[in-house]
Amino acid sequence: MSTRQIIKVKDAGFCFGVKRAMDLALKSAKSEKNHVYTLGPLIHNPQVCEELKKQGIIEAKSLNDIQSGVVILRSHGVPPKLYQEIASLGFKIVDAVCPSVKRVQELAHQLKEEGYEVVVVGEKNHPEVMSIRGTVEGETIVVEGPQEAEKLKLKGLKLHHRKVGIIAQTTQTIDNFKKVVEILLDETKELKIYNTICKAVENIQNESLEVAKQVDLMLVIGGKNSANTTRLCKLCSPITPTYHIELPEEIDLTWLKGVKKIGITGGTSTPHWLIDRVVDRLRR
Ligand code: SF4
Repeated sequence: MSTRQIIKVKDAGFCFGVKRAMDLALKSAKSEKNHVYTLGPLIHNPQVCEELKKQGIIEAKSLNDIQSGVVILRSHGVPPKLYQEIASLGFKIVDAVCPSVKRVQELAHQLKEEGYEVVVVGEKNHPEVMSIRGTVEGETIVVEGPQEAEKLKLKGLKLHHRKVGIIAQTTQTIDNFKKVVEILLDETKELKIYNTICKAVENIQNESLEVAKQVDLMLVIGGKNSANTTRLCKLCSPITPTYHIELPEEIDLTWLKGVKKIGITGGTSTPHWLIDRVVDRLRR
């Protein structure tokens, strides 16, 4: 038995929106006689998607892969156009979009209606950002961080002539959002700010930073394709040696040499059973 101390981030793991999506998907798989599909992975965690597959939930790459049955809308949301397309094809829809993401979509739509140019701080190709863009008539500007915000000035978009409304992808860090806001504040005639970063994400980020300060090593557990998990790794890395793993088997024992305290965290798409498995391996 190891004498190393393990400090687990209290809120690490599935958030409310992901739990809800999982429950709805599993309920559908049990009750529906027809095939149950998700468009793309239900959540960004390969191990959970594997489990869902075992329960009969099929991951379709596009609508062309679906002949009939039930389509589960992911927690990240879908653009309204895609929603209409799914409905018009006659598929039964199970709406597992997180209410917090819906709120961001509504705010983006509202900003455009009020005559604001909409700026989203987030990752261009993330499904959530695409779903937000889809709710806005016309163009939206997506910036990943301060460097891209600076480029907006260079591109001569003349933002200072415009009213700009700014929102964030729910999994952004407050630091990144603030930096972009600061740049645009100087550049715009009017700036309306909605901090749409999800509280669940913010809590995990803050707690992870606190734990990182107390330990010799930080393990971030979760899908390598999960944006919010990867961000936790980036946040903790400057503070203490940090590794991003999906499975306990990925722990390299040389990492633990001389390590007395280990911090454990995981993204909002990381199941608790996977976090427990990592803790078990460390204890053994
Ligand atoms: S991270 Fe927040 S916004 Fe995203 S699914 Fe979870 S609860 Fe919803």
